[in-house]
Amino acid sequence: MSAQILEGISLRDATIQRLSAKIKTLSVQPALTVIQIGSRTDSNAYIKAKKAFGEKIGARVLHEVLPEKVTTSEVVAQIKKHNADHSVQGIIVQLPLPTHLDQHTIIDSIDPKKDVDGLTSTHTQELWEDGSEIVLPATTRGILSLLDCYQIPVEGKKVVIVGRSVLVGKPTALAFLNRNATVTICHRGTKNLEEETRRADILIVAIGRAHFITKDFVREGQVVIDVGINTVSDGRLQEEVGKRKLVGDVDFESVSKIVSAISPVPGGVGAMTVASLFENLLDMIGE
Ligand code: NAD
Repeated sequence: MSAQILEGISLRDATIQRLSAKIKTLSVQPALTVIQIGSRTDSNAYIKAKKAFGEKIGARVLHEVLPEKVTTSEVVAQIKKHNADHSVQGIIVQLPLPTHLDQHTIIDSIDPKKDVDGLTSTHTQELWEDGSEIVLPATTRGILSLLDCYQIPVEGKKVVIVGRSVLVGKPTALAFLNRNATVTICHRGTKNLEEETRRADILIVAIGRAHFITKDFVREGQVVIDVGINTVSDGRLQEEVGKRKLVGDVDFESVSKIVSAISPVPGGVGAMTVASLFENLLDMIGE
């Protein structure tokens, strides 16, 4: 039997309709500043997607590029300028950063009222305490929106998350815990990973390794959410192929024949992540 496909494209398109209608009623045009350091190819692609989404809904997306060799204090000084700019309601720093920079200091210099990525200490603490002002990181919000859209309940379910990054794994674990799921986080040090993943009702994978989760990691009846975005070529040199293809952390081909529902890559969580970022932006404006 084949799994139900939890596709994010139509949900993203519905979100575009909803947010653009909402923006027409606002007294301000929403604006998001994206700060990029260096010029990673993957970051360029993600920022392009944000600009395209912003354009579709009628929000402004401003893109500031700082040189690769910039210092932490120079980035913080730039962020402070954007904090003081009343024409901009949201600020994000595109991750990952070059390794010489202090990510915590940089992210925490964003005014929490403009932290649409929900990554400052203020919002992390809210998430930790299950408070009332939670701004979920966009990927986490995207995962929950996808499950909600397909009416997949979370409460009381065994949720296993593979990957414990600050950007995806940890906030997602807390968000599911706050929704009364029983959560297990797995990582490189986890023993018998296959046993852990097979225990899940909902398996969420965010590790950044193409096709890592094969049929041996899953069982019938599971819901699988593939967060991974990996570029692969078909074995030939990239210059020969001309373009590369995006795949997830899950071997969709074999796993989709076993589980009951699965999100594809591309067109699953990724499509929802950018939509969720703009949902956060509009929530911050709060009109
Ligand atoms: P990361 O590199 O910061 O973290 C990866 C995590 O996976 C780490 O906690 C590590 O311990 C764990 N891990 C790595 N190999 C493992 C293994 N063999 N077994 C168990 N755990 C292992 O990555 P990230 O920022 O969390 O991103 C993960 C993936 O999700 C990447 O492919 C990234 O491109 C993708 N991503 C997608 C979206 C989206 O919108 N769909 C958003 C952010 C990230």
